[in-house]
Amino acid sequence: MDNDAQKPVQLIINPRSGYGGRHHMLGELRASLRRARLEATEYVTKGYDDAARCASEIAGLVRAVLVWGGDGTVNAVANGLAGSDTPILPYPAGTENLLAKELRIPSDPHRIVEILQYGRIVRCDMGRINGRSFMLIIGVGFDGEVVRRLSITRSGHISHLSYFWPIWRTFWEHNFPRMRIVADGRQIFDDFGLAFIGNISRYAVGLRICHNAVYDDGLLDLVVFSCREQTALLFHAAWTLLRRHPLKGNVIYKQFRNLRIECDRTVFSQVDGDVGPDTPLDISVAPAQIRLIIPHEKPNAWGLWPWKGSNGT
Ligand SMILES: [Mg+2]
Repeated sequence: MDNDAQKPVQLIINPRSGYGGRHHMLGELRASLRRARLEATEYVTKGYDDAARCASEIAGLVRAVLVWGGDGTVNAVANGLAGSDTPILPYPAGTENLLAKELRIPSDPHRIVEILQYGRIVRCDMGRINGRSFMLIIGVGFDGEVVRRLSITRSGHISHLSYFWPIWRTFWEHNFPRMRIVADGRQIFDDFGLAFIGNISRYAVGLRICHNAVYDDGLLDLVVFSCREQTALLFHAAWTLLRRHPLKGNVIYKQFRNLRIECDRTVFSQVDGDVGPDTPLDISVAPAQIRLIIPHEKPNAWGLWPWKGSNGT
């Protein structure tokens, strides 16, 4: 990053992201940047395409892009910067902040500026679905229908509570589709169910569905829950909460580079929490597409305790 040290930091702000309480943190972040004598230019985005366009225009011209927003904003910026050397540091200002959690990025503005200056740069894979990019996780079937319902009724900021009625209604009304899944040229599933494809391990509300997924191994992780009726879904959900899948139940877990999903009818998907394309789906991995700035791992004495688990949080 030495050659880039003279360049300014670009702050891309999504003014609609996150909770009201987080907005005073933006002032603290600006103050922390000033204290560190980092020159920062700011851009307030009007939406997804605007954030992607801004990012593509500044690729190579700035030292790093600090994204103030949720996963959707980070996704837009990543799309704009894909293939460039300009690194991204996501500030967790959204509802879920799955990527920031996966990278263990804190919300303390002072720490963020430290990471910006002294953090480690890693390459991150992106996924492709029917010609568009994704960074986090795709859901096909049940999950896609929930997000579709939410998108019809949503107005303004989404909280976890916003999902309650869409999940409740989808739970009772959903007919599980028959899916034929071909991974790297081999058919691995032909039955009723729902599927998830992850570039990272985290899913909403702390679940880890694709629990072995890592963002820099050049592979995507697939989890298929075989499921024909509502009660089976409850069992899958329970085992997932207990992080015991795929040891329990009728579950496939597989890593792949190319995947095709066809269904017996048109089925919805969600991509990184937003409405995705309908089936059939062609999904692949695009290795090492973007650069991210992440904290250095600190030796953690708690990690030595047997009940803590090797992957921390
Ligand atoms: Mg991976």
